[in-house]
Amino acid sequence: MTATTQNQQSAMLESPRLKIAIQKSGRLTEKSLDLLERCGLSFARSKDELFCYGRNMPVDLLLVRDDDIPGFLAEGICDVGLVGDNVALERACQQPQEAGQSGATPQRIRGLGYGKCRLSIALPAQAAYAQPADLNGKTLATSYPGLLREFLQRHRVSARLVYLSGSVEIAPRLGTADGICDLVSSGATLAANRLREVETLLESEAALYQRDLSGEGPKQALLDRLLQRLDSVLKVSESKYVMLHAPVEKLQAIGDILPAAESPTILPLAGTDQRVAVHTLCRENVLWEHLEQLKAIGATAILVFPVEKMLA
Ligand code: ATP
Ligand code: ZN
Repeated sequence: MTATTQNQQSAMLESPRLKIAIQKSGRLTEKSLDLLERCGLSFARSKDELFCYGRNMPVDLLLVRDDDIPGFLAEGICDVGLVGDNVALERACQQPQEAGQSGATPQRIRGLGYGKCRLSIALPAQAAYAQPADLNGKTLATSYPGLLREFLQRHRVSARLVYLSGSVEIAPRLGTADGICDLVSSGATLAANRLREVETLLESEAALYQRDLSGEGPKQALLDRLLQRLDSVLKVSESKYVMLHAPVEKLQAIGDILPAAESPTILPLAGTDQRVAVHTLCRENVLWEHLEQLKAIGATAILVFPVEKMLA
């Protein structure tokens, strides 16, 4: 081992280590791991697979049930958590004394753009519904009693809640409830169970939450460094680099079609002064519709490249 490697290793052991909790196994796991890897983090997986040691930065991973992440943040067991807003807000809704909870509410610092879903109330397709008051006297099955109770109170509705930890959508068919309040993404599960979405309580995505790190300067500095990389990764995942050939007189129109385009590089093309090559960075995704519009105004040789890294 070289002296430099030894120094690096002892520095890693001495400095505070940031602990990030992600879902161990579920819808958020792969995308969370992928996101952290794209931020340049690499982990050695342990045998029990609950703890992964950060190989190249003092940042370790805890693999846990998503429902445990807000509590672990509040208790200081981890410093940062990647978790759905639905889970974080449900915990925040529950009364601390009721659930035996303690600790500060974790702070949401970034939306991550995956794990998108909504928390909705759904009723059997044939049930009449015009407004929240129509829920009076009904029984609703849910895994989100805190958020549902908050919605019902806000609308002064008196309904009975039945807590179910899973398979909520079959409760009306079993006669356990008149309706449900559950997560929806495509709506296919609701349709398969002949349920109709009548109210959306919350739009949710995976987000990065942190516990209060005041008084822990080195850890906050580590998190800030990670956030800088994360912002760059999030920006880049939408960005595209576009190259095309275009009639000189259409440059303005091309700039108007390309989404969030930066000032382009214009290059001459050999053998013509009527057409030029245009290279530009677009800060938003470039769709087939954009390419069709570009072609319609005379652009050719249109190439779209993903951007891997960007430090703006
Ligand atoms: P765990 O064993 O970790 O408790 P889980 O069964 O509660 O897992 P998943 O079904 O893997 O959790 O969902 C994790 C998160 O994915 C949800 O909390 C939510 O933020 C998000 N999500 C996105 N779309 C959906 C969906 N259609 N149904 C459920 N969750 C969804
Ligand atoms: Zn869960």
